[in-house]
Amino acid sequence: MALDPETFDLLKSTLQRFVREKLVPREDEVAETNGIPADIRAEMQELGLFGLSIPEAFGGLGLGMEEEVNLAFELGKTSPAFRSLLGTNNGIGSQGLIMDGTDAQKQNYLPKLASGEMIASFALTEAEAGSDARSLRTSARRDGNDFILNGTKRYITNAPHAGLFTVFARTEDPDNPVGSITAFLVEAGTPGLSIGPVDKKMGQQGSLTSDVIFENCRVPASAVLGEKTGQGFRTAMKVLDRGRLHISAVCVGAAERLIADSLDYAMERKQFGQPIAEFQLVQAMLADSRAEAFAARCMVLETARAKDRAEVVTTDAACCKMYASEMVGRVADRAVQIHGGAGYMSEYAIERFYRDVRLFRIYEGTTQIQQLVIARNMIKQRKSEL
Ligand SMILES: Cc1cc2nc3c(=O)[nH]c(=O)nc-3n(C[C@H](O)[C@H](O)[C@H](O)COP(=O)(O)OP(=O)(O)OC[C@H]3O[C@@H](n4cnc5c(N)ncnc54)[C@H](O)[C@@H]3O)c2cc1C
Repeated sequence: MALDPETFDLLKSTLQRFVREKLVPREDEVAETNGIPADIRAEMQELGLFGLSIPEAFGGLGLGMEEEVNLAFELGKTSPAFRSLLGTNNGIGSQGLIMDGTDAQKQNYLPKLASGEMIASFALTEAEAGSDARSLRTSARRDGNDFILNGTKRYITNAPHAGLFTVFARTEDPDNPVGSITAFLVEAGTPGLSIGPVDKKMGQQGSLTSDVIFENCRVPASAVLGEKTGQGFRTAMKVLDRGRLHISAVCVGAAERLIADSLDYAMERKQFGQPIAEFQLVQAMLADSRAEAFAARCMVLETARAKDRAEVVTTDAACCKMYASEMVGRVADRAVQIHGGAGYMSEYAIERFYRDVRLFRIYEGTTQIQQLVIARNMIKQRKSEL
């Protein structure tokens, strides 16, 4: 626990109020303008939301995993685009730096990320290297004291806003003919780094992704994360472990929002002379959603507590990501059904959420990749016992 219980409760109730009073009323605006309003970003900064998981020594709140998921449950209750703006600073954009960065790198970047003055992006995926991230082709060729980066990263969240990219590229390795993967900290504006057009997506309007292109982009050796080459893949996998728990918590929050909206609608909407909530077939949909969201909440909390006890949670974090992201897809589908025709219309938030939550089953490791992680770890564990 980083904060004493009263301070944490105060932070949580402030966030709940912020979500309810400031973010939910602006959801349509964010979807229509495909951007987060500047005043909302400023309020997020004031509340310290960009530095939830960044250590206090660097200006963040230094929250533990249980505290972080408890806040992510709340952030999940509004458009995922809001969370996405601060998600990379708390998650995949900063965690590599926190886990494996040198003191100088941490001093240089973490305070700016914690305050939200600088946005961080995580650039792993490429056109030919998605689930198979290990096959990435972006190259980093040594040239004296520098490295020269060439290649294109795809679908990079917050790239158009980012001041700092953690970029994964292949460096030469005498022991390994295909080279090894190294993480680089590259600042926006570095000559040779450019950002492609903003991607047009199915949902999560307001959260921007685009290509990040490196053309003979020269960076000093001090830009190597942790100043050690060949460690990048390990860093990426560690970062994703934590990120998966965070995303799972956001899925739980989104499911709880969808359930609350569905219940209100079902109690108000009348057919055959009574509220549709009185029909047992509608009750079944509400009950299934409630039970599944509750199961996911319990899984996420249990795994977050284990992570705070410094236990290895790779398998359970993958279970959480797989279950929670699939769960919120089912809950969103039932929410549309409970709303009937209204659920298909963009006047109601349900239609937007239905599209928004689809992404959770794809990024930070698809459901199939989570299944592979879980089953492989089960087999490995059993073999070690035999
Ligand atoms: C909106 C958005 C934001 C993103 N943000 C970022 C970001 O900030 N940084 C970043 O680096 N990446 C980001 N990504 C990329 C994301 O992580 C990848 O899209 C994801 O990992 C899947 O890779 P892919 O799209 O290449 O699909 P593929 O890997 O081509 O997968 C296609 C299908 O094949 C399945 N599949 C693949 N391999 C196997 C296998 N071995 N066994 C069984 N099934 C398999 C997959 O599960 C999937 O169903 C983002 C993506 C999106 C859509």
